[in-house]
Amino acid sequence: MPGARYKDLESGWTITNYKKCVGCWMCITSCPFGAIERVSDGHFASKCDGCVGEDVPKCVEACKKGALKKMGIKNYSYERRLMVAKKIYGPYIKSNTKE
Ligand code: SF4
Ligand code: SF4
Repeated sequence: MPGARYKDLESGWTITNYKKCVGCWMCITSCPFGAIERVSDGHFASKCDGCVGEDVPKCVEACKKGALKKMGIKNYSYERRLMVAKKIYGPYIKSNTKE
């Protein structure tokens, strides 16, 4: 209601202006993916903003096992389909994903 969450047209991410968040939890109840969490001590709702503006997201930087990587939605979709195709057709399918 206060317009704390908005779509960043350049990056495509949903961004939060935490100064406007009043902690009504409407976004939490409406998100079908459970991607938004209540931060009770600060009384606001927190979600990933993809570290927009950073070259490498903090979670990617912190994961020493390399389990996380930054990619656009098109590459993510492509990689997921490739993963399924490899399961079906074997490891002979080549990836041409750009980082
Ligand atoms: S809790 Fe969610 S819906 Fe409510 S003001 Fe904050 S960001 Fe907006
Ligand atoms: S560190 Fe990772 S999970 Fe946290 S906001 Fe950045 S991209 Fe999202």
